[in-house]
Amino acid sequence: MSQLPPFENTPLETIASAGDEIRASFLSHKTRPLEYRIAQLRKLYWALHDNKQLIIEACKKDIGKSRYETYLTEFYWCVNDIVFMQKNLKRFAKDEKPEDINFQNKLFGPRIRKDPMGAVLIIGAYNFPIQLSLGPMIGAISAGCTAILKPSEQAPHAAAVLQKIVTESLDPSSYKVLQGAIPETTALLDQKWDKIFYTGSATVGTIIAKKAAETLTPVVLELGGRNPAIVTKHADPRLAARRLLWAKTLNAGQVCVSQNFTLIDRELLPAFLKEMKAALREFYPDGVRKSPDYGRIVNQRQFQRLKKMVDDSTGKILIGGTMDEEDLFIEPTVIQIDSLDDSTVRDESFGPLLPILPVTDLDEAIKIANRVHDTPLGVYAFGTKAEMDKVLSQTRSGGASCNDGFHHASIPTMEFGGVGSSGSGAYRGKASFDCFTHRRPVTTTPAWIEGLMDIRYPPYTVKKEDK
Ligand code: NAD
Repeated sequence: MSQLPPFENTPLETIASAGDEIRASFLSHKTRPLEYRIAQLRKLYWALHDNKQLIIEACKKDIGKSRYETYLTEFYWCVNDIVFMQKNLKRFAKDEKPEDINFQNKLFGPRIRKDPMGAVLIIGAYNFPIQLSLGPMIGAISAGCTAILKPSEQAPHAAAVLQKIVTESLDPSSYKVLQGAIPETTALLDQKWDKIFYTGSATVGTIIAKKAAETLTPVVLELGGRNPAIVTKHADPRLAARRLLWAKTLNAGQVCVSQNFTLIDRELLPAFLKEMKAALREFYPDGVRKSPDYGRIVNQRQFQRLKKMVDDSTGKILIGGTMDEEDLFIEPTVIQIDSLDDSTVRDESFGPLLPILPVTDLDEAIKIANRVHDTPLGVYAFGTKAEMDKVLSQTRSGGASCNDGFHHASIPTMEFGGVGSSGSGAYRGKASFDCFTHRRPVTTTPAWIEGLMDIRYPPYTVKKEDK
């Protein structure tokens, strides 16, 4: 078995000079040529392959992620992202012609240049430690930015592997991984950046946004939310149960876009629960606990937080409920709740809890969903086409999946982001390039045109007005 590299916090006193170095690298203009960017992407691609085994081991150690999930949601996710960028970069980086330009203005050759934003800071979350760090990094490299990546300290093995990959493969004067928790991130935030890309909780997102505002630094915030699933009486109970169970068992429910609560028509509840039990048996024939496919809660702090949510709940556990502190195991737990004041719904659970609130009809469900969070990260609707359309047209959210859990978010080239308090800015696919790019409008006024330009210069005579 290969050796996982050690995790060590970056010494605080070295943080400022690391920032200075990548700013100087950006100002040297070396990251601007497409050849440089493509060469970096190619090196990263091979480093990912070279460290595939370490990535699998690190994700297993940090969060109990199965090999299959690591392939799907971390390794191939990033590898495919690089291939996509390499294939399309030239096209994305090309100047664009603005629309609806009249003949006169065409003489000035108006165009939109795609300039890199500059030296950027990327702060990652723990739940998809590789994808959520390298995804934005791939966007930054493609756009011609230099970058410092600060992965989540809550997934230390993955953070150390990321550092190994970046250090071994990328230009060290332009790309660095710095490690640490609050003190190190605070020191990083004390620096001047051209953009900050943050993934994590809304609470910390607020700290980042406030700090960035002091220097008018633009931010992308990829935050959490309390996402509703709405299941009407016309939905197929088997499909709804299987798909919502999948959305809460992937990564042991530690997914920002998972549903946080399900509003289900009372009439469908018995059939839905029956199908949920059947789906659990089907997904985990030897029981969830023994399954190599089911992950673990990342650490004691998060485990205790989830345990308290369940302990404090006044709801009734209908399925699951088993927990093992030593093993950081929490069984997928379906709880029928009486109100949205329940402890399992008051805050984002970010774990394998499935609170269910029976409702009378779709109107009630939509009203409740909007009351809990009017701009969640995702909304999931199950029912007839007309019902799903109604959900879409009467709610707002970062993204939405109809007839499924967060499927929209599993399409790697489709743009992804929150809205309102679930985040701002988007990335993935072309959006990853755009998010680190400044669209710079440029015109060139030919010398020979001066005769025609007379109209813009004072004195503003009546004759000029008539023209
Ligand atoms: P977190 O906010 O605790 O940590 C995220 C990052 O912020 C880490 O790198 C951490 O070191 C840093 N950080 C923590 N406290 C800080 C402080 N006081 N000052 C400066 N930096 C600080 O988030 P997490 O626990 O890693 O992830 C869970 C949260 O992230 C959930 O709310 C989830 O919904 C959200 N999330 C969102 C997305 C998305 O794409 N929208 C993806 C994954 C997770």
